[in-house]
Amino acid sequence: MGNKQLGIYIHIPFCKSKCDYCDFYSKSGRDNRMDDYQEALLTHIRETAPQAKGYVVDTIYFGGGTPSYYGDKRLVELLKTLKRRFDVVSNVEITVEVNPDSVDKRNLTRLRRAGVNRISMGMQSASDEELASLHRAHTFAQVRAAVAAVRAAKIKNLSLDLIYGLPGQDMDSWRRSVEAALALKPEHLSCYGLKVEPDTPLCARVSRGELLPDDDLQADMYLWMVDRLAGAGYQQYEVSNFSQSGFQSRHNLKYWLMRPYLGFGPGSHSDFGGRRFSFMRDLDGYIDGVLSGNPIIDSDDLIPKRERSGEYLMLRLRTCRGIEEWEYRREYFMNFDPIEQRLAFFEHQGWAARDGHRWRLTPEGFLISNQLIGSLLELQESATLETVLPAVRRRQVEDNEK
Ligand code: SF4
Repeated sequence: MGNKQLGIYIHIPFCKSKCDYCDFYSKSGRDNRMDDYQEALLTHIRETAPQAKGYVVDTIYFGGGTPSYYGDKRLVELLKTLKRRFDVVSNVEITVEVNPDSVDKRNLTRLRRAGVNRISMGMQSASDEELASLHRAHTFAQVRAAVAAVRAAKIKNLSLDLIYGLPGQDMDSWRRSVEAALALKPEHLSCYGLKVEPDTPLCARVSRGELLPDDDLQADMYLWMVDRLAGAGYQQYEVSNFSQSGFQSRHNLKYWLMRPYLGFGPGSHSDFGGRRFSFMRDLDGYIDGVLSGNPIIDSDDLIPKRERSGEYLMLRLRTCRGIEEWEYRREYFMNFDPIEQRLAFFEHQGWAARDGHRWRLTPEGFLISNQLIGSLLELQESATLETVLPAVRRRQVEDNEK
């Protein structure tokens, strides 16, 4: 029995139709490849499992795409294989992402019996006009019915996704969506600001002049939501994630806390054995590669300590756990003083808060987290050089003197 913990992510790259804002790797109209994809995933899992000897799997996450559209039978088969091939702990967290139009009590019950204990549902909005404008394939009535099905299937951990900053959305409609989500009593909420990703239909609409809520309104939406959710008993534990006590996503925390995870499927990422790697964003290429033994790797990097120290700042400061001097010095042997001085300045501005030796960003800080973290990274870069430079300079001087 190993003692290192590992998360597993299975990417399901199929959707009923594509939403206008989406740049996740997923395909609609390719259902004819689902069986081949299943075979490729099973093969890939079997081939990879021996490398994870010494690890125990404590989280499994089926994301996408739309795993529920892929069908519960395939998901159950994948789970059985994972449990046979990996050392899976008995209290493993198993999450399946679902869309409201592809679940019912029967398929959810089958998933629960196979061990699924967490459902993450794409609700996005309570307004049918907003859902239609995003080309979501469901209505809010279907969200309600799907939540009832989750409860009828006796699944006790439900997360709902919401998006603010949608085309045509104002503060009132955002409030209505949040209130409607709260009325469904989920254990967890993920609330994201809409991002206009390049090469998406939404991007084309915006370039043609369609307006989105401006930055000020989006900031108001975010800050109101943080307050409202806190009042309703949801603790914020990351920029966009909120949960009732004991219901944080253990799997997603692994990404932010830089814990090891293995991904399977096209476009999936892994952080394992000091390496970060990803597989090609190409459904056919992935299937053919796995089944015929051809390369499927898209990127593969050995991450040096110095880069990890930047990631520590970048990822940890997305969480409410934040960063801490001792952790930073112990892991990366770097001087925390300049970072702390800058954080004290952020604190003065209301963007950061200190709890003992631990620093985290406030909701106001989260709103501008890219700029704040960017400024800490610049500082870190020069601090690193300060440590390294004397030796480098000495060598340069010696070289010049030769
Ligand atoms: S359902 Fe999800 S993954 Fe599929 S297109 Fe819509 S946003 Fe993207």
